[in-house]
Amino acid sequence: MTLPQNPYLLLTPGPLSTSKRVKAAMQQDWCTWDKEYNDFVQEIRARLVRLATAHHEAYTSVLLQGSGTYCVEAVIGSVIPKTGKLAVLANGAYGQRIAQIARILAIEVIVLDAGETEPVRAEQLEALLAEEPSITHVAFVHGETTTGMLNPIADIAKTVNKHGKVLIVDAMSTFGGIEMDIHELGIDFLISSCNKCLQGVPGFGFILARTEQLEICKGYARSLSLDLVDQWETMEKSNGKWRFTSPTHVVHAFYEALLELEEEGGIKQRQLRYEENQRVLVEGMKRLGFQTLLPTALHSPIITSFYYPDSLQFSFEQFYDRMKQQGFVLYPGKITAASTFRIGNIGDVHLADIHRLIKAIESERFWL
Ligand SMILES: *Cc1c(COP(=O)(O)O)cnc(C)c1O
Repeated sequence: MTLPQNPYLLLTPGPLSTSKRVKAAMQQDWCTWDKEYNDFVQEIRARLVRLATAHHEAYTSVLLQGSGTYCVEAVIGSVIPKTGKLAVLANGAYGQRIAQIARILAIEVIVLDAGETEPVRAEQLEALLAEEPSITHVAFVHGETTTGMLNPIADIAKTVNKHGKVLIVDAMSTFGGIEMDIHELGIDFLISSCNKCLQGVPGFGFILARTEQLEICKGYARSLSLDLVDQWETMEKSNGKWRFTSPTHVVHAFYEALLELEEEGGIKQRQLRYEENQRVLVEGMKRLGFQTLLPTALHSPIITSFYYPDSLQFSFEQFYDRMKQQGFVLYPGKITAASTFRIGNIGDVHLADIHRLIKAIESERFWL
């Protein structure tokens, strides 16, 4: 059986373009309590921990049904006790979403808002933690997909560790695409999803947790289906069984995606590919007259925001449609202060694709 060709390449922050091999893995039906299936789950969990740290004995992973936000909500709702207080460092929609989750769950929260075009800063956190010793947990977004900003994870982590607070990182758009060691950084909970840099299809996310910290959270959960500790205990005790129906096809696709990552040479190699994609993208776009929202030093190698061209003839809708006809799906902007659009370069996307994209844009500049 041959798979249909995709009509376009997704240049979005997820779901993203996946390989044929990943899609092909979804062609079989699986039973959720079959040992063979549960072995796959356990292998995925172990591989995730190994990707996250060289000190795997102190860490564990939990898979959870739903999109990335479900995992963020599961962590915020399951690891902060009733008496806890959360500080959120925000500089975009995803940071603000963490704070919104906390408010809905009636968790006390303080937001340090850096605005949309500045990185979150360790000095500001330092001042806040000195002023508000009752803060117990700190959360922030590593790669703020709103703009493509990469926040200074090492500086923030150092400050949180120094004050002995629990650190929660939304690394949704960076884990698997940027090398990091969660033990060295002192991260207690890291959240990511299977449809971003690990290049699986959407359907579940995962949490990497310092086991000792996760264990003490038993009974904290404010939700049944998003109870992180209960999900983890079930996976541990039943050797890879999920509490409720698991996305079996997606899990298989993800397993293939992890093998693919290994064959690519691991996270470091993938990071190099993404960095190269992004560098060539920005160079090409600048040559065509586009300006980036952020200075190079603040860019992640994941997604880039570009200002609309300075022309009354430009319409993003028209640009989007033309690009789609040429086989590329771009992404609208998300910030409030300026008119921007975004181009992602993660997924099964290679340098030749970026070169093709730049050529396509060059041929469609109707606003000139
Ligand atoms: C994608 C993403 C999420 C989760 O979004 P979902 O739509 O729920 O998958 C959270 N944080 C960041 C930084 C993201 O890029």
